[in-house]
Amino acid sequence: MQISLQGQIAIVTGGSSGLGREICLAYARAGATVVVNFHHDADAADDVVKLISQVGGNAMAVQADVGQESDVARLFGQTIERFGAVDILVANSGMQKDARFAEMSIEDWDAVIKTNLTGQFLCARSAVKAFRLQGDRGVSRSIGKILCMSSVHQTIPWAGHVNYAASKGGVALLMSSLAQEVAAERIRVNAIAPGAIRTPINEAVTQGDGAEKLLELIPYGRIGEPEDVANAALFLVSDLADYIVGTTLFVDGGMTLYPGFEDNG
Ligand code: NAD
Repeated sequence: MQISLQGQIAIVTGGSSGLGREICLAYARAGATVVVNFHHDADAADDVVKLISQVGGNAMAVQADVGQESDVARLFGQTIERFGAVDILVANSGMQKDARFAEMSIEDWDAVIKTNLTGQFLCARSAVKAFRLQGDRGVSRSIGKILCMSSVHQTIPWAGHVNYAASKGGVALLMSSLAQEVAAERIRVNAIAPGAIRTPINEAVTQGDGAEKLLELIPYGRIGEPEDVANAALFLVSDLADYIVGTTLFVDGGMTLYPGFEDNG
């Protein structure tokens, strides 16, 4: 099935690597103009822009730290200045700083909450303001779409990663509360909760011996690929998903079915 995002402008945070990169490419293939936000890796972001240009698409890279209010304002400002509007936000940026609970520093707690939760708040707030200002542009059935990147750890407790799990638990209720608040304006807010997907954030567990242990947690029997998430991300912001509001779509090969509880006897 061909999904079209023709005429729409999308900002993807953390678009220079992993899931964000794949989502940028999928959106561009569907006809969207893409703003590839990056934090530090300008070359990687330029590479995504180049790939999009090579297939006749339209894109630009913008550096911004999603945890900084002024950076997020600049990200949206530059987007609107260059392309005139924004129709889709994928609040995808995220990070981990892992430690056992008693050893976790306040710096590592703050850094993860700031990027993973405050970053989503700041970006979503700018998106809602932009959608309201520009109104119905006639490019989609809703006036704007926000897609939050959560994690199975919005639900599954994760010892050694309490800052990350707390941030994603926060994303779940940020997403649904915001969805409830803006649905009447035809702004759709949803989330994706990936399981274990092969990207830079989890190289340590998706390669080598770690991968075998990980597979025990995945009923479907394979580690996810960025494309699995990008396909869901494309569907959720398209008009095919026009009646999907305030939902978290788990893209996890069944990880949240808790396979450890399967009774083989
Ligand atoms: P990744 O490390 O490739 O992507 C994270 C991106 O966020 C990077 O491009 C990074 O530069 C960017 N980023 C970090 N801090 C930032 C900041 N302050 N401002 C702007 N950008 C910043 O890993 P990924 O797997 O592609 O992760 C993308 C999202 O998916 C994250 O939110 C992550 O929590 C979530 N996720 C990933 C998995 C997985 O298995 N890969 C599972 C569940 C959730």
